[in-house]
Amino acid sequence: MRKGQATVVKHTGSHYLLTELPSWAPFPAVLKGKIRLNAGTSTNPLAVGDRVVYETDGEPTAENPAVISEVEERKNYIIRKSTNLSRQSHVIAANIDMAFIVVTIDFPEIKLPFIDRLLVTCEVYGVPVTIVLNKSDLYGDAQADRVSAFHRIYESAGYPVMDVSAVTGLGVDGLRTACNGKVSLFSGVSGVGKSSLVKAIDPSLNPKTAEISEAHLQGRHTTTFYEMFPLQSGGHIIDTPGIRGFGLVDLKPEEIALYFPEMLKASENCRFTPCTHTHEPGCAVKSAVESGEIAYERYASYLGMLDEEGKYRK
Ligand code: GDP
Ligand code: ZN
Repeated sequence: MRKGQATVVKHTGSHYLLTELPSWAPFPAVLKGKIRLNAGTSTNPLAVGDRVVYETDGEPTAENPAVISEVEERKNYIIRKSTNLSRQSHVIAANIDMAFIVVTIDFPEIKLPFIDRLLVTCEVYGVPVTIVLNKSDLYGDAQADRVSAFHRIYESAGYPVMDVSAVTGLGVDGLRTACNGKVSLFSGVSGVGKSSLVKAIDPSLNPKTAEISEAHLQGRHTTTFYEMFPLQSGGHIIDTPGIRGFGLVDLKPEEIALYFPEMLKASENCRFTPCTHTHEPGCAVKSAVESGEIAYERYASYLGMLDEEGKYRK
């Protein structure tokens, strides 16, 4: 009996595929029945990215799979809440080093509150984010002001913004370098060019094909299986087919500002603690918005979330 440590790279329904990262040699494994995970109400006990201890008698094969005996505590994980009211959630991926949020100024038009929600989710889970502004080749004079405003808003909040184009290859080398040695998650609304970028980073990958087969599978099992892919240039990516963006966690209204890094920083100087940064006198966040230090658009997203969470809880 041999024992080893590996990472879950795929869940096929009947078994998991594991590999000992950074090497790529996936082998089948099954979950030992008695393992209990602290995944709460999550529908899937193990997710792509989970690190496990396995035991095997000889080379693992489909007929003689390795047996997963332990699951390591997750450094972070991203969940998607189910659409029904069962309060169940699905862990999309665990132990992510970086999330790339792919956006476009136009084609499709950007929705800042949506991006801010994804950013809050990443902050809650402690996942570093890089914003990838794709389709740069399409932006001319009509978009120039919005492109520079976009950079200003997110860079002043502390997020790196990369200008790229999957079509011309602008910034693709930089993106490839940023992926090197990391497990990265790609997210973004459909049509922003997520699959095109993954293919530009590594032409041997074809995420769209995977997406079509996912859709096919969904019809039969109503389960989406996420998958980790190795990049030839180094690093691994987790593509999230069919998700508009990973789900937002439930936050208490007073917690929301903790996940806007620039507001958290400014709030140290608010006169009152806690401060909702709405009506309180001596609010340092409001002054920072007035002076332009905090982007008004981010503050507006914050107010929108506050309003929604507040209503939701009444
Ligand atoms: P996904 O839904 O996010 O995976 O988006 P796709 O990769 O399928 O791309 C959606 C559409 O945008 C396709 O028609 C792509 O050819 C196009 N597209 C993707 N990236 C770029 C880009 O950088 N520039 C231009 N002009 N078109 C792009
Ligand atoms: Zn305040």
